[in-house]
Amino acid sequence: MHLPGKVIAITGAAQGLGKAMALYLAQKGAHLALIDMNAEALEQVATACRDFGVKAEAFTANITVEAEVETVFQRIVAKLERLDGLINNAGIIRDGLLVKVKDGQIDSRLSLADWNSVLSVNLTGVFLCGREAATQMIKLGNGGCMINISSISRAGNIGQSNYSATKAGVAALATTWAKELARYGIRAAAIAPGFIATDMTASMKPEIIAKIESGIPAKRMGVPNEIAQTVAFILENDYISGRVIEVDGALRL
Ligand code: NAD
Repeated sequence: MHLPGKVIAITGAAQGLGKAMALYLAQKGAHLALIDMNAEALEQVATACRDFGVKAEAFTANITVEAEVETVFQRIVAKLERLDGLINNAGIIRDGLLVKVKDGQIDSRLSLADWNSVLSVNLTGVFLCGREAATQMIKLGNGGCMINISSISRAGNIGQSNYSATKAGVAALATTWAKELARYGIRAAAIAPGFIATDMTASMKPEIIAKIESGIPAKRMGVPNEIAQTVAFILENDYISGRVIEVDGALRL
């Protein structure tokens, strides 16, 4: 797809990787539909995108609520008149060991509440946004592309039963959609980032960061623009579909 003039929706666009994707795609001339629960920060990102001369609209919504997601995608098409891409980026973590043992005793267990909240945002939210985006793309008849943000944790990670399950799940959703929606000219893919430096990692102790980086063959964390570049690469290349692209400095080899 040729990005100038196309409309790309991004969830979780108020900060972190979603914000980097929005600014990167704005620089490339794409119009943006920015979705997040954080209305104030989202409006700031929309303003910064508009500085590149593109249309950028903020849509405040909780992606776990079916009615809100339906309405948002109807409003996107009503306001921006197209929908060419969806980046399913919003995600949360609620880490905890399945069963934690301390001094030979069961100390804690991953709660059902933490399991459900992560599944609700990272998996159900991706399903709902994907379904509504696909519905609008099929109605509009111009094809499109959907990218789910997975993680290297999809291979399994200690303390992340819930998160890892969702990140494997969104990779599977992308491959399923690639097969199911190809007949409508809609592609789907996933990106599995490794450790990416964001506001969250900026507040970590330097010794913790050094320990993480020493375990990465590239010997550094990635930067948000390296994920944004990969998003643009997939959107722009019409023959990429059904793949999960790892962007992790060779961490998962
Ligand atoms: P972040 O926490 O900085 O931003 C996530 C955004 O999603 C926030 O703006 C938040 O308000 C929004 N959000 C959360 N729940 C929502 C909901 N129910 N409805 C609407 N918006 C909601 O996260 P990030 O570090 O930028 O990560 C973005 C994505 O990349 C996530 O899916 C994450 O799992 C994935 N990822 C991140 C890394 C990393 O190192 N940062 C690595 C691998 C994968």
